[in-house]
Amino acid sequence: MIPGPIEISPTVQQAYSVPPPGHRSEELKEAFGASIEALREVFRSSADTQPFIVSGSGTVAMEMAVMNLVEPGDSVMVIDTGFFSKRMIGILERAGAKVAVLEAEVGRAPDPDEVENFMDRGDYKIVFATHVDTSTAVLLDPEPVAKAARARGILSVFDGVCAAVGEVFRMEEWGADLYLTASQKAIGCPPGLGLMAVGPRALAARRNRSRPPAASFVDWENWLGVHEAYEKRLPSYYATPATNLIMALSASLNEIRGAGLDTIWRQHARVAEALRAAWASLGFTWIPQTGFEASTLSALIVPQGVRVSKLTERIARRGVIVAGGIHPQYRERSFRVGHMGWAISQAPLLERTIRAIALALQDEGHSVDAEIAVAAFRDGRTS
Ligand SMILES: *Cc1c(COP(=O)(O)O)cnc(C)c1O
Repeated sequence: MIPGPIEISPTVQQAYSVPPPGHRSEELKEAFGASIEALREVFRSSADTQPFIVSGSGTVAMEMAVMNLVEPGDSVMVIDTGFFSKRMIGILERAGAKVAVLEAEVGRAPDPDEVENFMDRGDYKIVFATHVDTSTAVLLDPEPVAKAARARGILSVFDGVCAAVGEVFRMEEWGADLYLTASQKAIGCPPGLGLMAVGPRALAARRNRSRPPAASFVDWENWLGVHEAYEKRLPSYYATPATNLIMALSASLNEIRGAGLDTIWRQHARVAEALRAAWASLGFTWIPQTGFEASTLSALIVPQGVRVSKLTERIARRGVIVAGGIHPQYRERSFRVGHMGWAISQAPLLERTIRAIALALQDEGHSVDAEIAVAAFRDGRTS
């Protein structure tokens, strides 16, 4: 139950577990083409948005966004809500951007007013924000950021690695220019693919550059023709795609479309709220302030006197793997539970997680009641 790689559905695992299809095979052409179409839908993006599916992890998608949009000397702003915003700042600095950082208080995202004031104090080409920061489980609402950027002619780029499919995102309606994610989080596949949707204004920004990006693999111009061909179910080649992963992606996106994205968004929100009821009944507090809690993971603060590594080890001994803290301010004080993708439809898995955490607390000498916590979860989930 870590925030990625997540548990995948049996159908996705089956689609993945085939002899490697060739990149010109019928099944790969269909899976690639259908995935491009489905991504456009899953990100709620316009018909002239170009999805990209590239080998690598979420970080490659971050790098691809930066390398195509940023030219050395460009002024950009980053809304810093934690660990992965800081990674984005590092990537931007390497690309030669002048980076202005709007730092958020830990546990929350800046208010829309603050974002707009900051935008007006500089002359920014692009704003970068993290939809859900995985170190703090803080949710940033992309809508006001994208709309404020659009109104000012600034491009908006969202790192949706720990959010896409688990949190509401409407690229076209909000006027966002780029949304990126990775295969191993809420999209429900094994790790190994960077995914993104690039809107028309961002595509134009790449085309209008004075010189191409200084790296070939992440230059999306090299991938445009490939994706256009596969969408027409024609084979194409720039660099060998991760064919098994694309088979898995296609199966996963098919399941997502079958269930309905709105339903999946609602399920994530309801399960997250029900889990918070269970956490509260166990005496936990968490990093995000009220109104900033992500639906895809929880970042729980351990009780005084409890060592995080000891607690997560005890939870593992009870049969559930959770993740330690990674935000510098909370590394020794928090642990993280992922609840996204297939697992949120599996009540026994979620209840086992609650019990494992409760029993680990008991092992630490805390008197908590696992069954009361599970009951709080059940109430929340079915209400
Ligand atoms: C996981 C994650 C990343 C990095 O993805 P990798 O696949 O590990 O490279 C980036 N941003 C966010 C918000 C993440 O949760």
